[in-house]
Amino acid sequence: MSGDGAVVVAAVEAVADRIQAERDHLTDLDSAIGDADHGGNMARGWAEAAEAVADLADPDAQTAVKTAGKTVLSEVGGAAGPLYGGSLVFASQELEGGVTPETAVAFAETYLEKVQDRGDASVGAGTMVDALTPAVHTFKKSIETDELPPLEALTKAVAAAEAGVQFTVPIRASKGRASYLGWRSVGHQDPGATSTLYIMEELLAVAAGH
Ligand code: ADP
Ligand code: MG
Ligand code: MG
Repeated sequence: MSGDGAVVVAAVEAVADRIQAERDHLTDLDSAIGDADHGGNMARGWAEAAEAVADLADPDAQTAVKTAGKTVLSEVGGAAGPLYGGSLVFASQELEGGVTPETAVAFAETYLEKVQDRGDASVGAGTMVDALTPAVHTFKKSIETDELPPLEALTKAVAAAEAGVQFTVPIRASKGRASYLGWRSVGHQDPGATSTLYIMEELLAVAAGH
């Protein structure tokens, strides 16, 4: 296996390992403001996704992302399954021509749009959108306006996602299970924003070659 497809396969494996390592932490975050299943659901789904992409014969990037997304969609369940999995499947079309800075920006934007479409959450609702939105906007600006090298753009995007995760702590959630708590969601870090950050950190690590 070679090229962009191999990088995607490596990225899915890195994400699966990281989510497994953070499983209990994600469960703890979801037990505070949800139903304590985010760690378990995500760990199982991404482990299955890693197996599914490893079984592909010399896939291109689009096929590998689509396969991972389909698996996450069918295995993760809850709110996160369709949001992560369905959006990955949909955004995978942007990688038809392989992974370049331009297609990576298109992929990121389409992924964000799909998450927003499906979940109907804006920034400030206390969800994964709070980490994803600043990350995608920062990535796009870094590539298109500032013309930074892709690794630097991704590094800045990860920093923006990290700030977005912190932003979920003091706000009151208005979407997802955490919204059922009303003001009691204040002071809690959103599990989906946190898993989004972990995924982005792994993308950066794989892109940087370590
Ligand atoms: P569930 O809440 O169904 O148990 P998970 O625990 O797996 O699903 O995922 C919860 C995460 O999903 C939340 O932390 C939040 O980031 C995200 N989420 C929930 N609802 C929405 C939504 N409408 N839009 C965007 N993200 C959402
Ligand atoms: Mg949950
Ligand atoms: Mg649930």
